[in-house]
Amino acid sequence: MKDDTRIVHAGRHPENFRGAVNTPVYRTSTVISQNMDEWDRKHREQASTYEPDLFYGRYGTPTSKALQEAMAELEGGFKAFVYPSGVSACVTAILAFAGQGDHVLVPDSVYGPVRRISGTMFKRFGIEVEFYDPGIGSGIEARMRPQTRVVYTEAPGSMTFEMQDIPAIAAVAHRHGAVVVMDNTWATPLLYRAFDHGVDVSVHAATKYVTGHSDAMLGVATTTEACYERLKAATLDLGQVASPDDCYLALRGLRTLGVRLRQQGGAAIRVAEWLETRPEVTQVMSPALPGDPGHAIWKRDFLGASGLFAFALKPEFAGSRRTFIDALKLFALGGSWGGYESLVMPIDPPRTVTQYAYPGAGVRLHVGLEDVDDLIADLDRAFATVAS
Ligand SMILES: *Cc1c(COP(=O)(O)O)cnc(C)c1O
Repeated sequence: MKDDTRIVHAGRHPENFRGAVNTPVYRTSTVISQNMDEWDRKHREQASTYEPDLFYGRYGTPTSKALQEAMAELEGGFKAFVYPSGVSACVTAILAFAGQGDHVLVPDSVYGPVRRISGTMFKRFGIEVEFYDPGIGSGIEARMRPQTRVVYTEAPGSMTFEMQDIPAIAAVAHRHGAVVVMDNTWATPLLYRAFDHGVDVSVHAATKYVTGHSDAMLGVATTTEACYERLKAATLDLGQVASPDDCYLALRGLRTLGVRLRQQGGAAIRVAEWLETRPEVTQVMSPALPGDPGHAIWKRDFLGASGLFAFALKPEFAGSRRTFIDALKLFALGGSWGGYESLVMPIDPPRTVTQYAYPGAGVRLHVGLEDVDDLIADLDRAFATVAS
């Protein structure tokens, strides 16, 4: 079946909920047993599967399990787990496979908080993180060590949208016995088939497009069967759990993910192409543009573009970044992305082993569901304000 069909049906079982179309919100900690026999059965089940039907709220509810089932199916993974945030999914996916004395490779374009914990808690735990050029491809061979347990990837990169050759990286990582974790938030399960390209664990900030309405924090990690036990143990041992209300919102958002992505991705390309024609702009960073260094890989591996990209102002306009952003009316100044609304944010990404080319001049846009002509008019007006 095609994605648009699967997205409507994945994880739904109305027959289990008196015909209700959507899985209800199960708010529960305690689960009552009718008698000692049921108590014993639930405990046996919990000990043997770690994924009992309904045992205790922390082990999941029908609401969280519906989301897990839907995400695993859409992504083509074995199983999925939910987390209270995207960051908790990213971090748990690393901690599941790396410990004291281990080496983890992380792209220089990684999402900020993952960079941060690499230098704080991971360091304290004796996990050595080495940053690598996101464009390294099969050159990752030279970075592999006997202690390398995880090769972390993210494509396109946070803020600056560098593409990564995931199949090439995964081939090397697997030859060395390392697990490939990918932050697949930008593409969602619909636009990047992580498991077809050699990824072992695909993590998502479901806060973004999956929930899609800027009203919940949520993470998801989907895994192959081979990595399932390790990820499950880490997830449950760390007490990772997502609120059933947030899982419900994510399930509700998920049903319209396909149409939202088509609309927002298409509009984002139009805005990006328009920005390329602007005299104030030196570079538009989006792998969906033919001139982008990552375009060939994007075209080869991805099934579309979402609505997030960045651009840089020419040096003579860099000092006007504040004025430009303040002049925008439809693009609201805010972090996060993936909702129905357009957003703008200044970017000054930190780098360790590569150079960021546009300090003081970078602007990230998230294109929402507004009319694209109105959005372009808003940007046009802001450029006019800068000129005056
Ligand atoms: C936002 C984001 C995260 C973190 O998600 P939260 O839900 O905010 O914790 C992780 N990776 C990427 C690429 C993101 O954009």
